[in-house]
Amino acid sequence: MRLSRYFLPVLKETPADAQIVSHRYMLRAGMIRQASAGIYSWLPLGFKVLRKIEQIVHEEQQRAGHIPMLMPTLQSADLWRQSGRYDAYGPEMLRISDRHDREMLYGPTNEEMITDIVASYVTSYKALPLTLYHIQWKFRDEVRPRFGVMRGREFLMKDGYNFDLTKEDALHAYNRHLVSYLRTYERMGLQAIPMRADSGPIGGDYTHEFLVLAETGESEVFYDSEITDLKFGDREIDFDDKAQCQAVLEEFTSRYARTDETHEEAVFNEVPEARRRSARGIEVGQIFYFGTEYSEKLGAYVQDSAGAKVPLHMGSHGIGVSRLLGAIIEASHDDKGIIWPEGVTPFHVGIVNLKQGDAEADGACESLYSAFTDLGLEPLYDDRDERAGNKFANMDMIGLPWRITVGPRGLKNGVVELTSRRTGESEELPPEEAVKRVAEIYAGL
Ligand code: ATP
Ligand code: MG
Repeated sequence: MRLSRYFLPVLKETPADAQIVSHRYMLRAGMIRQASAGIYSWLPLGFKVLRKIEQIVHEEQQRAGHIPMLMPTLQSADLWRQSGRYDAYGPEMLRISDRHDREMLYGPTNEEMITDIVASYVTSYKALPLTLYHIQWKFRDEVRPRFGVMRGREFLMKDGYNFDLTKEDALHAYNRHLVSYLRTYERMGLQAIPMRADSGPIGGDYTHEFLVLAETGESEVFYDSEITDLKFGDREIDFDDKAQCQAVLEEFTSRYARTDETHEEAVFNEVPEARRRSARGIEVGQIFYFGTEYSEKLGAYVQDSAGAKVPLHMGSHGIGVSRLLGAIIEASHDDKGIIWPEGVTPFHVGIVNLKQGDAEADGACESLYSAFTDLGLEPLYDDRDERAGNKFANMDMIGLPWRITVGPRGLKNGVVELTSRRTGESEELPPEEAVKRVAEIYAGL
């Protein structure tokens, strides 16, 4: 993309009403624009990152054997009456009526609808195990929408639902989700720690929230510092292998890590004092096993191998796709702007031309541009007739992890400058070498 042709409304001023850094930088980098409280337009740069995050979520869900689909945002109230949640949900649910006065709602989540779908088609245990998911906009009329996309009213969520014959199988689905989430967040450059959370009125130990540690997080958390040393890395997992998934779950959940809702001082105090941490965190996902409650209410039964009719064991599993942009920025920025991890960066590399209009500099930039494009990488070429200082400031704000600076002086010596946004370190090298270096960095992702 050539910046002169792009739509990137970078702001010079810090917006007054944005309280946390991710919100400020998303506004300043021209990623989002508020439409009304807690509702945002995704401008091209923000939309690009949102799509990258979605793509990672899709890939990792499908690696775990989960099946993508799409359910509507608008739902009929009827199903929610069957589950009893139409009244229970309260003012967070946006209720709408259509021209025939039929009661509708903008879905805050999809347990009812997916259970109804499965109930309509699945009649035998042979169709199981089954996990369906979608990535769809949700609406929750939050009392206090704030912090930009972090707590929106309209927000994008991956929500997945497992349907299993037995509790044991459903717990395997739970473990599978935990494992696949670890990998999902790591690919986005995030450490998200599974923490024991409150399962609400349903009870039981089977819910974990994934938290990214950040001072601006809304949740209070307590953990054993050893947990931050754990990395999932690129280990190969057979997601059908129950023992393997269980082992990963145990590895990542055996140390103390809880949200304030489940925190127990006495248990926490058993952790050696030097390792005890209390901090704040951003909830970027939650997994849940809840048994047969929805299946019974919405009629999702199958015949088991003995011919008996049994309700399906279910769980639901969410990832806050749009919130993740905020969480990534909170975890990765400096005072000049965003620093995108390679896995989600909107463009792979920035090209800054120090002397637009200089035949040699223009030509070198054009060849870099096509070299990257030919390799399937996306460069953002700042080809505007702007002062170098402005170009650098913009590039730093939008946070591309790599920048190549091209100027007549370097070109005389046959070199361009490759700069890491994270470390600020620069290196002079021939243009072809710079392309090779950047290509190598992205080859493993
Ligand atoms: P919270 O406690 O933050 O209100 P929740 O526990 O009600 O969230 P879930 O139902 O678990 O949310 O939804 C799954 C994920 O969707 C959450 O882990 C979070 O990342 C994201 N999410 C929930 N509410 C919002 C919101 N208002 N804006 C943006 N993302 C949200
Ligand atoms: Mg939650």
